[in-house]
Amino acid sequence: MSFNSQALKELSDISERVKHNVPYATVESYHGNVLFVSISRTERVTLDCTILFTEDYPQSPLIIQLKSKTLADELLKGMCLVKLLDENCKKFIGQYQVVPQMKFLSDYLTENIFCCCFDEFQKIKREICSKWVELKPKQKKGIAHFKITCRGHESQVKLTVPLNYPTEAVSIDIKEFQSTLPEYLTSPILKQAVEEARKCVEPPLNVKVLKGKPFEIRPSFYHVAKFLILDSLLMFKQTNCRLCSEPAFPDKPEDVRAYNRDPMYVERVYCGHIFHFGCLHKLINTPPFNENKQCPVCKLTIYHERWKETPQVLADRWAHKQAKQRELEEVIDFLQ
Ligand SMILES: [Zn+2]
Ligand SMILES: [Zn+2]
Repeated sequence: MSFNSQALKELSDISERVKHNVPYATVESYHGNVLFVSISRTERVTLDCTILFTEDYPQSPLIIQLKSKTLADELLKGMCLVKLLDENCKKFIGQYQVVPQMKFLSDYLTENIFCCCFDEFQKIKREICSKWVELKPKQKKGIAHFKITCRGHESQVKLTVPLNYPTEAVSIDIKEFQSTLPEYLTSPILKQAVEEARKCVEPPLNVKVLKGKPFEIRPSFYHVAKFLILDSLLMFKQTNCRLCSEPAFPDKPEDVRAYNRDPMYVERVYCGHIFHFGCLHKLINTPPFNENKQCPVCKLTIYHERWKETPQVLADRWAHKQAKQRELEEVIDFLQ
């Protein structure tokens, strides 16, 4: 294919023009009618563009192939970028196209923070969003605003994907968190979510946990969203207390019990599952005491600050109570 004079003219100072007009872009090389440009927004948001000039360029559009070592294939091919690029090209038929097309890509990567976690974002939409969970993303700021509405209760939580994600973890906007659920339950799960995010990007203090393997940064967006929304906020509202089969929370937020010895007060045990105080208290203080009590949902040992007694103490207390009861019955018998 012979090289046309228009393209040659455009290529003569292409490196300079790309450098000055397209943020984050560099002309890597050109051979004949093929030009290579790389765009590197951050370490994890990079694009390699192979640009082909056709014989009748610029009357026909440039052919641009996109590759990336860091971005999801789906983002490049499936739906988004290639189509948008084709659309943008139409405006520049008959004119120089390299700079406007590269600028379009560079701007796209700048204005769509969720590019860096496209797969996770899709997974969140598929697995976390539902008729109870609504997601409003603010692409430019990387903010994912979730609204969770279920059984008369509502929570709102914002997660922010930082520019250098996933090296830096998602952050949870604790100040703007809102929920009709009681704070004594939501406050620890927010703290735990922050901790979950941190664990994705920072090695543990106790290196033994890694079992000799090097620490690897993990993506935190889906992980934190799942913990916070599916496994906590939504679970609280959808769940029945597995000990009595009644809904854990009443449907009206104003009916939620605040007194922590109220039988219907909701307790969250160590594994994360919730029960009524009264139901849990009865379970813990009822035989058998020879082994630890298990959570009926996940079978982990039930642990809670409020019930720290050993099985022996509980057994003694139970025996004492039974003896008292017998004494009482004997007295009643005697009196009759
Ligand atoms: Zn219950
Ligand atoms: Zn459990």
